[in-house]
Amino acid sequence: MNLHDLNIAVLGAGRSGRAAARLAMKHGGRVCVFDTSPAITGWPEDIPLHAGATEEDGRAFRADLVVISPGIETDCPFVKSFGREGVETIGEMELASRFYRGKIIAITGTNGKTTTTSLVEKILLRAGKKAVACGNYGVPMAEVLLRDAVPDVLALEVSSFQLETIRDFHPDVAVWLNFAPDHMDRYTAVEDYYKAKLHIFDKQTENDLAVVRFGEHLPALKAPVRTFSSESPEADLYYREPLVMEGNSTLLDLSETSLSQRHNAENVMAAALACRHLGIPAKTAAEVLEEFTPPGHRCEAVRTLDGVLWLNDSKATNLHALEAALKSQNAPVVLIAGGKDKGLDYIPLRPMLKEKVRACVVFGQIADQLYGSFSPAAPTEKAADVADCVEKARLLARPGDTVLFSPGTSSFDMFTGYAQRGQAFRDAVNALSPLS
Ligand code: ADP
Repeated sequence: MNLHDLNIAVLGAGRSGRAAARLAMKHGGRVCVFDTSPAITGWPEDIPLHAGATEEDGRAFRADLVVISPGIETDCPFVKSFGREGVETIGEMELASRFYRGKIIAITGTNGKTTTTSLVEKILLRAGKKAVACGNYGVPMAEVLLRDAVPDVLALEVSSFQLETIRDFHPDVAVWLNFAPDHMDRYTAVEDYYKAKLHIFDKQTENDLAVVRFGEHLPALKAPVRTFSSESPEADLYYREPLVMEGNSTLLDLSETSLSQRHNAENVMAAALACRHLGIPAKTAAEVLEEFTPPGHRCEAVRTLDGVLWLNDSKATNLHALEAALKSQNAPVVLIAGGKDKGLDYIPLRPMLKEKVRACVVFGQIADQLYGSFSPAAPTEKAADVADCVEKARLLARPGDTVLFSPGTSSFDMFTGYAQRGQAFRDAVNALSPLS
């Protein structure tokens, strides 16, 4: 792709906007970064920046290419103001992929992306590949391409927001972990979220691979499909706890790993199938699994106190993640849930609450909604904040129980993000003293 003499508007002065701008400049584009926020601190002097930008600035710029950051809504008036007849609007990931010649394993899904991306990166590295995990994972793809040594393979975490703005993006392996309603504060209909995610398969051919959870509702795909399941032996790989099976043979034993819960077993199977497409055997994956710990705030054991196990699953920012965490528990659960209103419906959780839960404690902006949804299925109490939830859960739990902090929605009503929320939970749990 030749960017020489093109006027490029990069929208959003965050980390991905900065990387996109540098990449476009490296390839000869005349770049200006626009952000509606009037004050951007710590911005590098060599990248032209227009802070406090308006729609009028958009119309005046006469862009030849518009590159937007994933945090910005694709069809908001600000973005539209830069659009002119025949001018492309793409995302940072799409821009980066036009300059990348290596292999891409792209991973999407409502839940499990980060865990699976991390697994794929570690398996690739163990196999001797020069691999990097990036994308929605934290490091923008464009930033990786600016490094001196560009990797051979990318383990690329891809969100639905990033998939809204791709055109020619072509992953060698596209992983579809699962799909459930989420982000209903950004999308007007669940179908829009689903359609955005489906773009991951758009440019795949019969030489590529699609790795898909068995039973997902997808249209016919051009790439061959391999499936995985924690429920059905009809899938190419399936989980018979604690073993990953392929037909009648054992492929992996997860009993001595920290990934034996069903949802993590799904992530393992997806990662193993994806890496196999690049010629990496299950044996290499097995070596990685022995020492792999899922990233923090994902069903993480904080401590066992007076016979009660306390789990921090603050990264459960939607109902599907909360459901997966509950499904994976074998002991009676005291569930702590709550946070920001994202427009999700929690009533479908009732049968699982009846089956798994001793009691619930709810908090945050949706405390009243959750109280109404949960209390017909399990005894439910409202709490003022996370510390109060911990106090109440302690009184409700009995020895042998698990207290599961799996909020089931995002944290922005009270916190800067799931990590701060999870830390508040860890702190409150670690402050408890043993009884007696
Ligand atoms: P993402 O990057 O998609 O948000 P994470 O790996 O960060 O995924 O996990 C997010 C949440 O989803 C955590 O609460 C975790 O316990 C749960 N989770 C992880 N993998 C899966 C899966 N395959 N299915 C359902 N839930 C999962």
